[in-house]
Amino acid sequence: MIVGMKRERDIDEDDDEEEVQVKIGRSQGCEDRRSRHCPYLDTINRSVLDFDFEKLCSISLSHINVYACLICGKYFQGRGQKSHAYIHSVQFTHHVFLNLHTLKFYCLPDNYEIIDSSLEDITYVLKPTFTKQHISGLDKQGKLYRAYDGTTYLPGIVGLNNIKANDYANVVLQALSNVPPLRNYFLEEENYRGIRRPPGDIMFLLVQRFGDAVDFLSWFMNALHGALGGTKKKSSIVSKVFQGSMRIFSKKLPHPDLPAEEKEAFLLKEEYQEEMSESTFLYLTLDLPTAPLYKDEKEQLIIPQVPLFNILGKFNGNTEKEYKTYKENFLKRFQLTKLPPYLIFCIKRFTKNNFFVEKNPTIVNFPITNVDLREYLTEEAQATEKITTYDLVANVVHDGKPSEGSYRIHVLHHGTGKWYELQDLQVIDILPQMITLSEAYIQIWKRQDKEDGTKSHTGA
Ligand SMILES: [Zn+2]
Repeated sequence: MIVGMKRERDIDEDDDEEEVQVKIGRSQGCEDRRSRHCPYLDTINRSVLDFDFEKLCSISLSHINVYACLICGKYFQGRGQKSHAYIHSVQFTHHVFLNLHTLKFYCLPDNYEIIDSSLEDITYVLKPTFTKQHISGLDKQGKLYRAYDGTTYLPGIVGLNNIKANDYANVVLQALSNVPPLRNYFLEEENYRGIRRPPGDIMFLLVQRFGDAVDFLSWFMNALHGALGGTKKKSSIVSKVFQGSMRIFSKKLPHPDLPAEEKEAFLLKEEYQEEMSESTFLYLTLDLPTAPLYKDEKEQLIIPQVPLFNILGKFNGNTEKEYKTYKENFLKRFQLTKLPPYLIFCIKRFTKNNFFVEKNPTIVNFPITNVDLREYLTEEAQATEKITTYDLVANVVHDGKPSEGSYRIHVLHHGTGKWYELQDLQVIDILPQMITLSEAYIQIWKRQDKEDGTKSHTGA
């Protein structure tokens, strides 16, 4: 689910078709205990198969023991007599079924398991596997692939179904799957074999819990880090790719209702002296200036704009800002001490008041390449961090009002250097200039490290 990626037949027929066959053939096909020739395989209709939907029985709505009918694409529970799949096979003379959990094929109502290597392309779509060679080539080419329905796509630039208003989760998954080290890690199953998996389809558990892309991103990265054995001290692929650190200077403020002379006396007390702490982060939250909405001569609202470097000023070590907690107010300033290979910005557009959520529509102006963060590092860090310039690789946008708005994402295709806009299943190519005109909400930036991952100057 993390990687919205399919791989089927190439349009160019010249290349690794043969190799793919060999690899697939090796992984399965040696067991033939229950194999029998099934006469109904040519009734399978691949064009109706879509495994992105919630895996529940279309009649009982149960998630348990669900089979896909490979003739009409519908899902049914069970395969014993009187089960929904069994009854469907008799009523509609649809005979070939796939168990969506065990990935075994069955012929109903005769009820035998079908072993046939010609069905492996279907298993592959339900549960793709990738060879090391295929993974390493993903970002080096711009070849189009053909999907079941005849449409073409670039690997990695694939829309996701919007089921139950989960566009906020789709954009996060698409953004993260455009981070090659993270994506490649999850494409190789041996990297995380044995970790506990959540029951059922993760997407369907999640959609009820969130609604906001930043909340989801934050939860998802922490959950992933934990599931992979990561802790505060022990790293995981998530912390290796995204974790940086910063210094936080913080001082308590006296209660705002105190008389002026008492305030002064309080400020001399020890607890109002500035304290320094070091903290790691998986993303940086950038605050927008409060947005005054002006109208022009034609009574049209003028949307305020702010340069990215202004809001990054939060991390220059000098800018002080007041932060309110439940009980106390603090004055804080920040400075970065370590930069990650991939840096995530979350632009704080939403503020919760007592009764409603307000959105700040300010447009952030930014160059999409060569953003240098050197000046936000402490002196010590400036000496050790060699490369500090970043290029944008993903830009999540929130359009419209807080509650009824929608999400879309801009992603860079690493192989071609072209930008695409994805909104659920819709994919269009766009000009890079369009990216900076949007209400950016989450951005992922890639440090200009060398291809082999070593840090050195790129002369950019
Ligand atoms: Zn059917």
